[in-house]
Amino acid sequence: MDTALITGASGGIGKAAARRLYRNGFRVVIHYHSSRLEAEALARELNGSESGGRAEIRQADVTDPEEVRAMFESVGGVDVLVNCAGISRQKLFTDITPEEWREMFAVNVDGVFYCCRCALPPMIHKKRGKIINISSMWGQTGASCETHYSASKAAVIGLTKALAKELGPSNIQVNCICPGVIRTPMNGSFSKDAIKNLEKETPLERLGEPEEVAAAVGFLASPDANFITGQILGVNGGFVI
Ligand code: NAD
Repeated sequence: MDTALITGASGGIGKAAARRLYRNGFRVVIHYHSSRLEAEALARELNGSESGGRAEIRQADVTDPEEVRAMFESVGGVDVLVNCAGISRQKLFTDITPEEWREMFAVNVDGVFYCCRCALPPMIHKKRGKIINISSMWGQTGASCETHYSASKAAVIGLTKALAKELGPSNIQVNCICPGVIRTPMNGSFSKDAIKNLEKETPLERLGEPEEVAAAVGFLASPDANFITGQILGVNGGFVI
């Protein structure tokens, strides 16, 4: 049974991705940072369902390379890594402090670097593996008052493309999904009016659901995507075309 580790799997998109990969028959490693109860509940739900793979949980702060290393060591090699853990903040550029800038990059960029670094040696050895990074459409277009978030997500796109080229000869596919506005706790602080405006700006005139991003994860993790690497897949209702 192939193993898929999903970081940030107690969050909206990560949880949906874990459910999808479990249904597709993976041994799913549900990574969480502080929401242990959520992660345990998800593992119980999955292991209690009739068909699918196997689910287990692991804790780590993705900004800490030692914690990430210990997590991967305890899992013992993954076939699919989904880098979904992330934070977002809204702030005027001139109000962003150096600490806030570093925190954004520590989670959204360093976390991806640390997880890829640990996942890769066994993949390279086997000449087989898939990395799926969750960036954002704001990493493609830039969002006003989210400069640090946009810059960090643009970095994930650059990392994806470069790593895909480097790992092609090892038969490892590295791809990136750029969600639009998805209905998850991350957007919980937006006012009703702000959500309405975002819906209006989206050609499909609604927010996306976490399951719609998870469907793309399921596809990129499957053998159907074996000839796809270095790609940036928008799941955004047409917001960015
Ligand atoms: P969420 O807030 O529900 O989940 C984020 C997850 O990241 C949580 O499980 C959290 O515990 C984890 N996390 C945060 N800091 C961490 C740390 N230091 N170490 C380990 N884990 C940490 O958000 P979501 O909407 O599910 O977002 C998932 C990913 O999708 C993020 O990378 C986000 O940037 C991206 N994204 C979301 C949207 C959206 O509209 N929701 C749009 C584009 C991209």
